[in-house]
Amino acid sequence: AIPLVVAISTAVSAQNGLLIRNRTAFEESRKISALLFDKTGTLTKGDFGVTRIESVDNNNSSAEVLRLASALEQSSEHPIAVGIIKKIKEDKVIIPKPKNFNSITGKGVEATVENKKIKVVSPGYLRDEKIDIPKDAYSDAAETVVFVLIDGKLAGYIALADEIRPESAEAIRIFKKNNIKVLMATGDNEKTAKAVSEKLGLDGYYAEVLPHQKVEIVKQLQEKEEFVAMTGDGVNDAPALAQANVGIAVGSGTDVAAETADIILVNSNPQDIANLILFGKATYNKMI
Ligand code: ADP
Ligand code: MG
Repeated sequence: AIPLVVAISTAVSAQNGLLIRNRTAFEESRKISALLFDKTGTLTKGDFGVTRIESVDNNNSSAEVLRLASALEQSSEHPIAVGIIKKIKEDKVIIPKPKNFNSITGKGVEATVENKKIKVVSPGYLRDEKIDIPKDAYSDAAETVVFVLIDGKLAGYIALADEIRPESAEAIRIFKKNNIKVLMATGDNEKTAKAVSEKLGLDGYYAEVLPHQKVEIVKQLQEKEEFVAMTGDGVNDAPALAQANVGIAVGSGTDVAAETADIILVNSNPQDIANLILFGKATYNKMI
């Protein structure tokens, strides 16, 4: 049966923007009972525009917050970084050069700029460091917010907006019709995660998730007898992709995510996963 499965899965991939790396993945896909999606770039477009830049100390203007953040973000490929760089280029501000750039996996980026230690980080990072989140940071549920630290102190934040992918709703309708639980795990804030989850009618969500927690979420679902598929796009997602019954790397992925995954979702489109599951079910029903 293996050559047939390989042939079928190759045909499915060719049509649907999927690369199947592990030949059992096609067979396994029909058993999926819970799907754990990442948010940015999979359920949403991952195309961020800056909506607000706020300063929270008197020493640095919002323009300065953006300028320092941009110095770091020019070295990052995260969709948030792309949105921030798009903004500063519109403003025609010169971006300073960073030293000792480092990405803090799944939490943000850090570097030295003009002798100051700058960080641009997630809400989960602030929670870990016990830094209070300014009360106006989440005034709009549609916004994703990243925080800018100068020498360890909160200097301001940048809010960005992304849109839900038009294909997500239809994909979720198909999953639900097939009794597959649809969940989301995101590093983004609680309010934004809840808004996306409600708009899409998800069965649940996990917000402000830090990288190591993704593996735990997958394990917990497996302990409840779920057969878990998970999507992810970053190096930080690799352990959870490996733990999942079906690991799905999104987009070109990073090399590590792609190497650990069973399937690569080339166009980052959740509908391609729906098609794979339906096709898998139909194929095996005919064969039995
Ligand atoms: P998600 O796919 O849910 O955004 P990631 O693991 O890619 O999760 O990132 C987790 C969080 O870390 C993001 O929501 C963001 O807050 C922060 N983050 C990651 N990379 C960057 C970056 N280059 N600039 C700013 N924040 C970042
Ligand atoms: Mg991500």
